[in-house]
Amino acid sequence: MIRVENLHRHFGGFHAVDGASIEIETGSITGLIGPNGAGKSTLFNVIAGVLPPTSGRVTMDGEDITGLPPHDLFHKGLLRTFQIAHEFSSMTVRENLMMVPSGQSGEALWHAWFARRRIAAEERALAAKADEVLEFLTIDHLADEKAGNLSGGQKKLLELGRTMMVDAKVVFLDEVGAGVNRTLLNTIGDAIVRLNRERGYTFCVIEHDMDFIGRLCDPVIVMAEGKVLARGKADEIMQNEAVIEAYLGT
Ligand code: ADP
Ligand code: MG
Repeated sequence: MIRVENLHRHFGGFHAVDGASIEIETGSITGLIGPNGAGKSTLFNVIAGVLPPTSGRVTMDGEDITGLPPHDLFHKGLLRTFQIAHEFSSMTVRENLMMVPSGQSGEALWHAWFARRRIAAEERALAAKADEVLEFLTIDHLADEKAGNLSGGQKKLLELGRTMMVDAKVVFLDEVGAGVNRTLLNTIGDAIVRLNRERGYTFCVIEHDMDFIGRLCDPVIVMAEGKVLARGKADEIMQNEAVIEAYLGT
């Protein structure tokens, strides 16, 4: 689904991503691991159009998407989750989800009179969809809670929920488990697996928790110093000498 070819992203003279090539197969939950500073987030940001690459190519289903802005990628079903922005923390969980789909009539201010009824109908549909998403993620009891009051793990679930408000195909998750307790991490893992199996989402997941990676991801790609070190099943990866050395070397 996603093919990254010989990607470079330099910051001044520093090669954060240094000729990385990866493939994310349709229907997979691909893990991306590696020591801090390996270039994982930078790679995600280039794929998701947040940062332009210095050189290299990214394709989605054979189409060149290199350097497309996040908005265009969003419409193609390629999503990278982001932390709930500060501005949205005083909105409720349901409202945060309702914000996601773009191109709603509410954005076009023309034809206000005729549009009004349609907007109301769309809002009801959006609210219903948001409630369905929250139920799927087992946080429907938090629908009317302010997003700013959620725990770290609940916020991660809400971020995942945002991808469900649109027709996502491939979702990039950066450190899904950071600062999340074990119970919620399992809930997040279950949600990812269900989205993968029941809705056909392809995932690429950066995470440091190897239990989580081992349980969810196949294959696992290992990066170090801007390059891809290894790719394979989680248990094979953990036996790989170069991988062990890369982790011990930091
Ligand atoms: P990872 O996510 O694997 O921990 P990052 O992609 O965040 O690694 O960072 C890779 C390297 O690139 C790090 O050494 C980091 O300091 C550097 N880096 C990341 N973003 C920038 C930036 N905007 N400007 C300069 N250096 C950066
Ligand atoms: Mg990172």
